[in-house]
Amino acid sequence: MSLFTRLVLSCGLFLGIAIALGKIANGYEEPVHLSLTIWLAVTAGFSDNDAFQLGRFDQATDDDSDTTPMAPHHFKERGLYHAFDGPQAVRKLEAQVKCDSETITIPQFRGVGHYHHALEDQFAHRCCGAVLGQLLVGAGPDKPWYAPRDFVEMVNRKFEALLELRRKCKAASSTEITVARSRFEQAKALLDRWASEAFEFSAEDEGNQARWQDLIRSLYGADYVKYAETYVNAYRDLRRTPPTPGPSGPVPVPAPPSGGTIR
Ligand SMILES: [Zn+2]
Repeated sequence: MSLFTRLVLSCGLFLGIAIALGKIANGYEEPVHLSLTIWLAVTAGFSDNDAFQLGRFDQATDDDSDTTPMAPHHFKERGLYHAFDGPQAVRKLEAQVKCDSETITIPQFRGVGHYHHALEDQFAHRCCGAVLGQLLVGAGPDKPWYAPRDFVEMVNRKFEALLELRRKCKAASSTEITVARSRFEQAKALLDRWASEAFEFSAEDEGNQARWQDLIRSLYGADYVKYAETYVNAYRDLRRTPPTPGPSGPVPVPAPPSGGTIR
């Protein structure tokens, strides 16, 4: 057996073991980057329209051709926008977040989306380090139940980042921040309970998806359809027909597809 063949075989064996163990190197998916972000932003006190923009550009970091992690040559982009470079990538994107007092423009929402996306993906890379992690891109997406406690920690960090954004870009008072925190308390209890239950099961357990659905139904309550379907459809419509206003002009949220309302 040639040295080359031995290298290829051992590399393949390693990758096979890593994947078989469920150590996935990709980031989260639409239910997390888009729906959960919009719900979390509303809980943090953003208007529905601002919350939609926050979720939209968070998810677009995976979907836009200049930031997608899936292009094979995107080593730099994976390192930065999908946090394969670790905390330093997240800090770098955070430092680039700009906003004017009380308004966030569309390009600024894009910058915030990049920062939030990296912050989330950072919790999804649990094996292999930057180099081998990048080789595993495409192996499979990360599901919240693969590492439920990491996921809940990520949600808590994200909520803090959203509160910080409200202080910085929306001049939120300390009273408004306190009110938002108390709104989040009940959700935190639900998340913690889900994590302790989900922790009991393996990543492959067939009840994972149902337990996750129960969690988000409890979190979104009466607005479940709005977050899990209406906004997702609105986002996909926007991707199909990009809006015409200039780069800093307002982009209205499209009318929901099935008679619901986006406030
Ligand atoms: Zn990503």
